[in-house]
Amino acid sequence: MITLENVSKRFGNFQVLKDCSTTVARGEVVVVCGPSGSGKSTLIKTINGLEPIDSGRIEVAGTDVWADGTDLAKLRAKTGMVFQNFELFPHLSIIDNLTIAQRKVLGRSKAEATEKAEALLERVGLADQARKYPIQLSGGQQQRVAIARALAMDPVAMLFDEPTSALDPEMISEVLDVMVKLANEGMTMVCVTHEMGFARKVANKVVFMDNGEIVEDCSGDEFFTTERSERASQFLDKIL
Ligand code: ADP
Ligand code: MG
Repeated sequence: MITLENVSKRFGNFQVLKDCSTTVARGEVVVVCGPSGSGKSTLIKTINGLEPIDSGRIEVAGTDVWADGTDLAKLRAKTGMVFQNFELFPHLSIIDNLTIAQRKVLGRSKAEATEKAEALLERVGLADQARKYPIQLSGGQQQRVAIARALAMDPVAMLFDEPTSALDPEMISEVLDVMVKLANEGMTMVCVTHEMGFARKVANKVVFMDNGEIVEDCSGDEFFTTERSERASQFLDKIL
C-alpha cells in the first residue's frame, strides 16, 4: 500500500532523512519509534504530501506522491492524518468538522456527509457530542473526533503522529482503544508512537529511527523478543 524507496531530505544543511526505505502492506500496522528529533514526523509527512523530498520515491496505493502532476489534495484525503494536537477546526461544530472535507473535497451531499459523520461519531463513542465545539471536549474526545474526521474520507491508510502524547494519562487508553479497533478491522496504519503496549498488541512491523536513518525495520515479534541494535536497546531502556 505504501512504499518508500531511498527517501532523503534536507532542511538547509541539515539532513533530516537519510536514504529511508520501507514498505507497508495492505492491512498492516507499522509502528515508527525513535528519539525526539530523529525524523519521524518528517517521514510521516512526506507520505501524505506535507513535506517534499529531495530524492527517492514514495508510492501510496499506486500513486507516485512526489511525481509532477500528482493531486496532493486527493492524496491527503486518501491518507488520513492524525496529529499530536488534534488540529480540529475550532470555529466549526464537531459535525461540521466531520462533513466539511467530505463535501468540499469529495463532493458529497450534505445528507450523505452527515450520515457518514454520525456513523463515525457513533463508532468512536461520541454520538452525543455532534453539536458541540472542539473547545467543549476533552483532549481524548477531540482526538477521537480527529480520527473520525480522517476516516470520513474513506482513506486507504491512516497515519498517526504521536496521537496520545499531548493527552492526560487517563485519556490515552480511550484513543488507543479506537486505534486497536481500527487495526483489528484491517485498516492499514502507520503510527508514530512510543506506546509500546499498543505496539506489542497490534504492530505487524516496527521501524526504529535514529538520526534520520531507519536503523531497524522488523516484525513486531522480532523487535520485542530478539536481540536489537545498540541504539534501539538504549532507546527502549529509556522509555520502558
Ligand atoms: P521527530 O518527529 O522524530 O521528533 P522531526 O521529523 O520533527 O523529528 O524533526 C527532525 C529534525 O528536523 C529535528 O532536528 C527538527 O528540528 C528538524 N526540523 C523539523 N522540521 C523542520 C523545518 N521545517 N525546518 C528545519 N528543521 C526542521
Ligand atoms: Mg515528531
